[in-house]
Amino acid sequence: VTARERYTSANPTSSRLHVEATSHLPGGNTRSVLHASPFPLYMTSGAGNTLLDADGHRYLDLVGDMTAGLFGHSQPKIQETLVKTISSVGLNLGATTSAESQFAAVIKERVKSIEQLRFCNSGTEANLYALSIAKIHTGRRKVLVFKGAYHGGVLGFATGVAVNNVDRDEWVIGKYNDVASLRELVRQYKGELAAVLVEGMMGAGGCIPGSAEFLHAIQEECRSNSLLFILDEVMTFRLAPSGLQSTILHPTTNQALSPDLTTLGKNIAGGIGIGAFGGRADLMAVYDPRTSSVPHSGTFNNNSLAMACGLVALPSIYTPAACLELNALGDELRAKLNEIGAGTRMKVTGVGAVSTVHFMPDPAAKIRSVEDLEAQKGGIEESLRELFYFFAIEKGYWVARRGMTSLILGTTRDEVDGFLGIVRAFVEEYRDSL
Ligand code: PLP
Repeated sequence: VTARERYTSANPTSSRLHVEATSHLPGGNTRSVLHASPFPLYMTSGAGNTLLDADGHRYLDLVGDMTAGLFGHSQPKIQETLVKTISSVGLNLGATTSAESQFAAVIKERVKSIEQLRFCNSGTEANLYALSIAKIHTGRRKVLVFKGAYHGGVLGFATGVAVNNVDRDEWVIGKYNDVASLRELVRQYKGELAAVLVEGMMGAGGCIPGSAEFLHAIQEECRSNSLLFILDEVMTFRLAPSGLQSTILHPTTNQALSPDLTTLGKNIAGGIGIGAFGGRADLMAVYDPRTSSVPHSGTFNNNSLAMACGLVALPSIYTPAACLELNALGDELRAKLNEIGAGTRMKVTGVGAVSTVHFMPDPAAKIRSVEDLEAQKGGIEESLRELFYFFAIEKGYWVARRGMTSLILGTTRDEVDGFLGIVRAFVEEYRDSL
């Protein structure tokens, strides 16, 4: 009996719910990333860092909603804020409130390159607005992104083409962590490029950290060619108290990255839907209604729940100390996973508490771009990844189908050790295939 067969027979309710869902939703699904074959697990509730599925199994949640679930499912201060806000403020006042400027001040205090910012509802929107600023500001249309990047549902470049995007001709797609090709593309498309949009760690692409050399080269190329440097910190903000940008130091001057615009989302409002974009005040003035006719609107941009939770999440829960502690635990987890995987095809990449498990034919191969992963691809890697997924689920650990994990605040060293134990068991059981 295979792991896949055991999964199917252990989860009859999820299987049935999936069949029902396919008559309403294409593929039974409304978030493609959660699709899984033969069917995804249907979760019914979460508490802290655990999840309960429709067949009554409980899991340690290591997915953490792909980093957005940083605060867990029932963080007491977030719960209290939600209840208090509904009863004493209301849901959405359709009017300006002081909460939004207070929340903006909280973010500015953390991310030094942000002079002014605005809120929206998702990371995708934040990137679309940042791109819009770049195009308006420069009068140019093209944007340099990198193969494997994910900047939102309509801004995904996994296959090296802009899938799902109406402006297909407007993207120039480079190779991540490759300084020479970056400089060449900027030279080639000079005069057409409005911006470079990049993640400091390629997240959905496989948790591939960007090198300081590469990210600072982007900043330099942008400055010397009058392009905007847009850093997508939707996923990576949580990796350091002032965002990943504060830790990417120039190899010689030691200066932190200072993007023209930064985009945020996922975890800045305690787990409530949110997006934000901000940076240089002269650029953000594109959306100043006193002086500009370009609108930035959105019914829920300043919704009471997100604004109120934003005021609590960073100042009172994800404090710099809590952030450093969680990411140190994540670094330790990844180091131990790589120790367990030493001499096998298993290799784990990432930064702090956000990681991806890869299966590589050549475990010594470096992972610096998705091209490096593709060069390694073959059927066996995909089936090992699936095996790992089913194995972890069977043992009560919820990991993403694509191998990604992100630790939830409050996850203990004992819980991490429990996961290490099952990974050790996995490696022992499948050593011959690994
Ligand atoms: N940018 C990055 C780096 C992301 O990882 C994501 C989501 O996974 C997004 C943007 C899109 O954010 P949202 O899903 O809130 O639209």
